[in-house]
Amino acid sequence: MDKRLQYKIAQFTDASAIKAKGLYPYFRAIESGQDTEVIIGGKRVLMFGSNSYLGLTDHPKIKEAAKKAIDKYGTGCAGSRFLNGTLDLHIELENRLARYVNKEAAILFSTGFQVNLGVLSCITGRNDYLILDEQDHASIIDGCRLSFSKVIKYAHNDMQDLLRKISILPEEAIKLIVVDGIFSMEGDIVKLPEIVAIAEQYGANIMIDDAHSLGVIGHNGSGTASHFNLTSEVDLITGTFSKSLASLGGFAAGDHATIDYLKHQARSLIFSASMPPSTVASVLAALDIIEAEPERIKKLWENTDYANKLMLREGFDLGLTQSPILPIYIRDNNQTFLVTKYLHDQGVFVNPVVSPAVLPESSLLRFSLMATHTFVQIEEAVFKISKSFKKFGVTTVNEKYKAV
Ligand code: PMP
Repeated sequence: MDKRLQYKIAQFTDASAIKAKGLYPYFRAIESGQDTEVIIGGKRVLMFGSNSYLGLTDHPKIKEAAKKAIDKYGTGCAGSRFLNGTLDLHIELENRLARYVNKEAAILFSTGFQVNLGVLSCITGRNDYLILDEQDHASIIDGCRLSFSKVIKYAHNDMQDLLRKISILPEEAIKLIVVDGIFSMEGDIVKLPEIVAIAEQYGANIMIDDAHSLGVIGHNGSGTASHFNLTSEVDLITGTFSKSLASLGGFAAGDHATIDYLKHQARSLIFSASMPPSTVASVLAALDIIEAEPERIKKLWENTDYANKLMLREGFDLGLTQSPILPIYIRDNNQTFLVTKYLHDQGVFVNPVVSPAVLPESSLLRFSLMATHTFVQIEEAVFKISKSFKKFGVTTVNEKYKAV
């Protein structure tokens, strides 16, 4: 009998097509730490594609904390939190995070992706509704796919559309609105005050994924709800440690009863090994630094404002960003690949975002700032991007800027 799998695999040609053109931009091997400059192929490359917003992955105190945790606890927990994989260190971090985001309790997961899979698959039931922004992260979408609830999407940050869609849902059903705090590609902030008002009107609950907001907005970088002073109106706050918090893992925070429910129902928690001690210790040390050195967040925003100003002066189309994620719209897949490759060769690392991740007319370079970038590094990157746009005939300009 013919085996069919290889036929299906052979139909996937997207990656080989772009490799054949010599423009493949993924899985680039970095030979150094995740810093503002990295080494690739033995050469120095400016890093503007990182989520290490506070530049903490190379911090000596965090590295020291990770090493100490290895000395005390070893390299892994060999089991899930539910059974043999809970350390006192996990509980210390959960208490710390709950205080940080101002909720009663928190539970750790081994990645941010697993948080959304675990929470969304179990939190609502068959007759309930999960209501998503269409630009929510892939892990939210996948978590919803594992749920028995009905999933409804509204147009990105479009409160009229949310209102239209929520207003026709049955009163007795649970309605959970799930949103990114800062949207990971567009860089804009969720319209939380409007969502809170709508949720109150229609008896809906709210969950915010603060992956890109932690360390960036809110009191001491504690996220979106704090930024808007609406923490008690938000039921669940989730986050990841793979960005500002310099490590790997994630958490959900909420009231005691909800967190206790998740501890006994979330399958990606119960059936997956717990965060290793070194990563837990790294997050604790990162939180110490964030709280002790508020100037880091200030510097991140100074860098963001500076890059924004330079790019708008060059006429780049930055969409509606309000954060250190600057989407530089090119609006053409091929040009986006060409520019990314050229910039790489010129020593600037940025991430291409092309279809099917976004529509071809929304393809962009995702340029992200770190607190540790210097103005000189930002100037060099903007200069080179500008040069690449001229070289490849990228003509999109910022409509807002043109109007000024
Ligand atoms: N949520 C959002 C909004 C994200 O951007 C990401 C990662 N890109 C995740 C969740 C997943 O986090 P992790 O990398 O910790 O799995």
